Amino acid sequence: MSFRSRLTLFFVAIVIVPMASMAIVLFRLLSDNEHGKGDARIAARQETAIHLYEDARRNSTAIARKIAGSDTALAAALRAGDRARIQRRVGQLQLKYDVARILVRDPKGAPLGGAGSDLAAFPATLQLVDQRRRSYGTIQVATDTAPQYAVLVHRIAGLDAVVVRDGQRIAGTLPGVAPSDLPARQGHVTVQDADYRVSSFPAPGFGGAHVQVSVLDDTSVTEGNVRNSRRIAAAILIGFFILAFTFAVLVSRSLQRQILAFLDAARRLGSGDFSAQVPTVGRDEFAALGEQFNQMAGQLEEREEDLRQERVRLENAMRRIGETFASNLDRDALLEIVVRTAVDGVAAEAGRATVRTDAAEPLRQVASVGRPDGLEETVRAAEAQVLETGEPQDANVGRAYALAYPLRSADGEGRVTGIVSVGRYDKAFSASEHDLFNYLAGQAAVSVENVGLHETVERQAVTDELTGLSNRRRFQETLAGEVARSQRFDQGLGLVMLDIDNFKQVNDTYGHQQGDVVLREVARVLKESSRAIDLPARYGGEELAVVLPGTDLEGAYDLAERVREGIEALEFPLEDETGERRVIRITASLGAAALGDGIEDMRELVAAADAALYRAKRAGKNQTVRAS
Ligand code: GH3
Ligand code: MG
Ligand code: MG
Repeated sequence: MSFRSRLTLFFVAIVIVPMASMAIVLFRLLSDNEHGKGDARIAARQETAIHLYEDARRNSTAIARKIAGSDTALAAALRAGDRARIQRRVGQLQLKYDVARILVRDPKGAPLGGAGSDLAAFPATLQLVDQRRRSYGTIQVATDTAPQYAVLVHRIAGLDAVVVRDGQRIAGTLPGVAPSDLPARQGHVTVQDADYRVSSFPAPGFGGAHVQVSVLDDTSVTEGNVRNSRRIAAAILIGFFILAFTFAVLVSRSLQRQILAFLDAARRLGSGDFSAQVPTVGRDEFAALGEQFNQMAGQLEEREEDLRQERVRLENAMRRIGETFASNLDRDALLEIVVRTAVDGVAAEAGRATVRTDAAEPLRQVASVGRPDGLEETVRAAEAQVLETGEPQDANVGRAYALAYPLRSADGEGRVTGIVSVGRYDKAFSASEHDLFNYLAGQAAVSVENVGLHETVERQAVTDELTGLSNRRRFQETLAGEVARSQRFDQGLGLVMLDIDNFKQVNDTYGHQQGDVVLREVARVLKESSRAIDLPARYGGEELAVVLPGTDLEGAYDLAERVREGIEALEFPLEDETGERRVIRITASLGAAALGDGIEDMRELVAAADAALYRAKRAGKNQTVRAS
């Protein structure tokens, strides 16, 4: 459910539901109130109607008293029992007092005379008595007729009135009311679709007739009032609702705006835009949340920067490892990279690698990274402990801290042949830095061992086992490289080829093993006569050669001659097949050649030297011949 939907639900819950309940209660109260008011109004009007009725009764009683007490003519007529006189006098009295009806009866209740309207209502009844208080009849007087009363009630009390006598309607201001519908006391009646509230009371009638007076109030007035009140209440409620709704919409908009701002900032943050900030206005929870968010963004940015640096370090390490491979597994280059990686990895100030080839030798620094000023003493202390114990060590002198790790020989004896060490100021190395350093240095140790093994294998691959000279493969490679170099830099390149004279005979006479001794000695002479940059090699069998960079034909010849003389000077104490010991000497023939003068490539150079050698043999051996 979206935030907006929730707000709407919340609004409905806290505003609409209570308001609807309130409206129901209010409408009911209003209705009750109006109906109460209507009830009170009709009660007051009925009161008026009853007053009017009582007034009529009072007036009737007063006139009846006057007639009974003072009208001698009527009394005389009654005493005389003269019906005609009685009737005449009653007629005169009705006119005299202007009443609706007068009726006279004998003591037994039989009518003696009467005058007036049959519709007269509410009569006052009085006993007629003589001086001895004996009754000689009754008189009934009614001042008003039922229609007069009804009209009066309508005019003064504003109510409709209906008078019913013995089930018959005799008067009424409201047509169309069935007497049987009228309740005996309180109730409602519907007349021509209009609802009337009815209140009825009994009244006296002439000659024991049963009379009922009903007053009716049109409830449409009350209903109209109820409607009006409801309209006002509804208008107020709707006004309040609009106000609440507007407020809710504004609040919802503002909340949504803030949330969208957060969402937007979070999205930008997610896409790596750390400048994403949310506005923090005011002091509410949103502002606090915003501040927290912005702080978080800042921290994330720092973290990312850390990660970036970490990645750079990792890339550097990987690049270095790549360089190590590219460096043809050169031990010093490897150690340089190891030291650099270790220094970076444990955040050291400086580091170095030291090695020795012989246990008696002092350690010699082969790689150094960083500025070791002031760290040397501590680093040396750690290295000394490593030499002493053969184990990884750390040291601390003053402000300086150092770690050192042993490199061991690959010969299985595990002598310490080198040390990798790092140092820094002010902060001891943590356990994890120890671990990382030991791991890196351990890897380095393994790599250095591997380099040693590799170098051995590589050396073996290009070295002739018998003579210790380069083998033919190495000779070919070197010569090709030197020819190219010489052409590029326009330098001389000499080549001398050598073949031992009558070597077959040595083998035949003294055996193959003695021949090998001779071959080794000749090789030694060739090696010792060469410079460091020269490459003496075994070309094949008892043919040797030496590549002479930067040397012209004369230089090659001179070297060949020196070699030849050296070989000639050798003495071999050998035993022949018969067991006789003899000191023998041997000689060799040499051909010297150099690039230039029509000799332009490697093939031509070898062929020229070979041809010169052949000519030396042909010319009698034990001599050097220059290539032509
Ligand atoms: P020349 O003066 O003409 O060179 O005569 P030579 O006897 O030296 O003749 P050649 O060069 O044909 O003989 C080569 C001999 O060298 C044949 C072979 O027995 C011997 N030889 C080649 N390689 C070795 C080796 O590794 N050890 C020994 N002992 N003899 C070898
Ligand atoms: Mg030969
Ligand atoms: Mg030979």
